[in-house]
Formats: sequence, structure tokens, C-alpha cells
Amino acid sequence: MTKTYLVGAGPGDPGLLTLKARDVLAAADVVIYDYLANESMLEYCGKDTELIYAGKRGGEHTLSQEEINRLLVEKAKSGFTVARLKGGDPFVFGRGAEEVEELREGGVEVEIVPGVTSAVAALAYAGIPLTHRKCASSACLITGHEDPNKPESLHNWQSLANSSSTLVFFMGVKKINNICDNLLQHGLDPQTPAALVRWGTTCMQESLFSSISDIPEKAKSEGFSPPALLVIGDVVNMKQEPSWFEKKSLLGNGVIVTRAREQASSLRSILEDMGACVYQFPTIAIQPMEDYSALKESIQNIQDYKWIVFTSVNGVKYFWEQLEAMDLDARSLGQCRIAAIGPATANRLVDKGIKPDFVPDTYVAESIVQGLLDRNVQGEKVLIPRAEKAREVLPGELEEAGAKVEVLPVYKTVLAEESSGKINQAIEQGSIQYITFTSSSTVENFFQLFSPRELANYVPNNIKLACIGPITARTLENYGFQADIIPEEYTIPGLASALDKFSQSVISD
Ligand code: SAH
Repeated sequence: MTKTYLVGAGPGDPGLLTLKARDVLAAADVVIYDYLANESMLEYCGKDTELIYAGKRGGEHTLSQEEINRLLVEKAKSGFTVARLKGGDPFVFGRGAEEVEELREGGVEVEIVPGVTSAVAALAYAGIPLTHRKCASSACLITGHEDPNKPESLHNWQSLANSSSTLVFFMGVKKINNICDNLLQHGLDPQTPAALVRWGTTCMQESLFSSISDIPEKAKSEGFSPPALLVIGDVVNMKQEPSWFEKKSLLGNGVIVTRAREQASSLRSILEDMGACVYQFPTIAIQPMEDYSALKESIQNIQDYKWIVFTSVNGVKYFWEQLEAMDLDARSLGQCRIAAIGPATANRLVDKGIKPDFVPDTYVAESIVQGLLDRNVQGEKVLIPRAEKAREVLPGELEEAGAKVEVLPVYKTVLAEESSGKINQAIEQGSIQYITFTSSSTVENFFQLFSPRELANYVPNNIKLACIGPITARTLENYGFQADIIPEEYTIPGLASALDKFSQSVISD
């Protein structure tokens, strides 16, 4: 019989997901997840798992609690194994109990997988123990956002103010004035230490320390926004500034890792351990076109073209496949002049028996166009076999310079992962501080999806570029950019520690 699991995702750090939660995610047919459940945990789900987002978007819930409950029952009753993934622990202010009631009423069997609650973990990452033998022998978990339908507060403010417990308010940022006023009015010492911890255990963690009488004002002036916990009590003084976690050199820094398959994940985990918010640049998968009749026609009339410009290794590969399928070889290009953009493309042509007539020094459109103009491309027919969706800069500028350009799609690039939209948005919003390149091909892949002109808006002022070594840096230079960071040792750990050193020097400047 299928089951439904109510699963705690922990407070955000993917490492704080339990082993049991990971197994349930791997086995689930449907996963319904929340705003606070870190999306990177969804990587544990199977490839065909249906993922449904039930959290907030722009402050609004995408699904109401009633809709979530209905969906849970419906999916479970259709025979699917369902995992309902909730931030922290599902029974700590997550309306988990209500979801269980609804499922049981609907005749669905439910198991609970507890999670690490933020009350414990976010405090620990901020350097605050929840209890302490010397000053807090109890702790209270309190909602700062009571059911709006209740006529008056159910909290016994008097006993909370007198409890000498550590008080941890969930969902309390917007009500912070109210909470602190109530406690002060009921006799809590105004000097009682207080802290706010937002996005605890994640790369975006921030904390703010003050006293209960001053913290509402300080939170307001610093624009401290939810989700955060408000902690009140003497344990707050146990914190040593900054906490073990907040000391991490890349905490809060957005770093793009341009994937070269197996390499990227090791770089990613090292950087995450240094506190960075890591964004994986999408891998590109290459696919052939469905129809090659246009290419075949061009090959038949290949003598008409004065120049053939190959812009990538894959362009060469797919062009040659058709050439060979037509029982031809390099000799049929004998009348044409050949340009290769980039050394990898040039090498591939050499493998095919062609020594390119022109390889530009740098790979920006301007220098390619100038190089071809110097070779009298004006008025001539130029064939550019390349990816179906590629940037228009090169053909556009060649045409402007007077060439008759024919662009011929010979393969498709499809994103192996979700679109690069998220990364573009992160760059535009200023969330990215570093881009890392671990090989020349990661540079080339990056510029297949992101134009050098656009990147120039952010580099070098807002975004720093890190290359694993001088060869990768040279490839980057050919696109018009200088590497800001090159390690002494050309390895992934070397690159990570160079970033570490660089970020420390930025802080001390
Ligand atoms: N079940 C969750 C709490 C859900 S209520 C748990 O056990 O942690 C949502 C509130 O929890 C947020 O408004 C915020 O006050 C708190 N919260 C959850 N995750 C948090 C985090 N990583 N850092 C700080 N506060 C968090």
C-alpha cells in the first residue's frame, strides 16, 4: 500500500536533512514542497518524481492550506507515494498536524519524518545555545503570528516575561514591536539580550544582536526581513562574535560554478562549505538537427562560398558528419577559405585535414570581423555552420561590414538543466560576486549562453572572475576579460583557497 510521508526538510542547510528524509524523497512519486524547504534537496528525488511547489511567491501562497490538503489526499488516493516536505520540523509551527488530520480523515495512512527545527539549528549556527545550565534551564517555542481568527492573544505574557526561559519566537519579525512591548509591560528587564537570526543555516544567514528594548528599532533601521527567529534570553550573551558559521569567508557571496561535469560538484561542495551561495551554470547538451537538407544543399554548392566560419567544435563535427554521409571529404572545401574561432575548433579542423586560414587572436565579434575584413570578406559569401540558437552578433556585424552571410544551423544546444534564467536574474539582482571557470571549455560554454557584452556591465566592479589556471585565463582573455583570481596551484582546492584569500583581502580593504 502506498503511503504519505510528512517530512521535515531541516532549516535550510542541505546537510541537515535526515537520512530517512533523503530515502523517502528518493522513493516518492510526488513531492509537495514549501518555501522554506531548500530546493537543492530535491536533487535526491527520482528523475520522474512530480515536484509541486506549494510555498510562497512574492509574499503570496501559491496554494492555500485547503488546496494543499486536498492535493495531498488526492495524490495519495491515486496510489502515489507522496512526500510532503516542510521546512524545519513538520510539527513545529508548520501546520503539519492539520495536514495529518486531513489525510487521516481522507483514509490515507501517514508517517512522520521529523526534521531539525530552526529553533535549535539556526540558533546553533548563530552561536547561541538554546539552553544553558547557568542561565536558561528551559526554552519556549512561541508563534509570533497567532491564528488571526482568535479573538485575543492566547499567550500568557505574564508567565513568559517571568519564566527565565529562552524565548524563541517564530514568524515574529512583523510583530516584533508588539512582542517586545508585551514582554516589557509584563516586567521583563529591558536589558534582556535579544537576537534575530534570518535564513539560519543557509548561505544567506544574517543575525542582529541587541536588547529587548532596542531590537525593534534596530531591526527596522537595518531593514531586517523574514524569515527569522527572535530569540530572547541570557543565552544570547553566550554568542561569540561572529559565530563559527558566520565567520565563513564566502558567507552570503553568490558564486557561479560553470560545470565541467564531475568537477563541478566537488568545487560546489568546497565552496558551500566556505559559506557561498553556489549557482550551477547549466550544462549544455548537444543534439543533432532533425533535418539536414539545408546543410546538404549548401555542401552541394560549397564552391559558392568564399569563407566558411566554424564557431565551435560541434559545428565542425556535425558539418563533417553530413559531408561524409554524402561520400565527400575535405577536398570538396578546397576552393573555400576557412576560419576557426578558438583553438579547440582549429584543432578539430586540423584533425579533418584542414589548416584554417584564419584564427582570431581574441574571440570577441569585433576582432573576428576585423580579421575577416583584412582578408577581403566584403561582398563575399560567408557560410557560418553553427548552433541553432546562437548569438547574432557575429553574423550581424559581418553583414554590416558588407559580407553576404548565410547562417546554417547544424546542431542544437539544449539546456541539460532548467533554463539559465535563474542565473541571469541573480546576476541582474547583484546576487553574484564571483564566477569560476575550471577549464577553457567552461569559458566557452558560459559564453554560449551569456554574451560578453552583457557580462561587461558587471565585470570588474561587481563580479570577479576566477580561473583555475593560466590557460583558462587566456581563453577568458580572448573573450575580452581579465581573470581577477588565479591560484598558485591549478587544482579545484587551489581555486577554492584562492577565492578564500581574495575574499578575505576584500573584507580587510
Ligand atoms: N517547522 C519550521 C517552522 C515553520 S514556521 C521549523 O521547525 O523550523 C516558519 C517560521 O520558522 C519562519 O517565519 C521563521 O520564523 C522560522 N524559520 C524557519 N526556518 C528558518 C531559518 N532557516 N532561519 C530562521 N528562521 C526560520
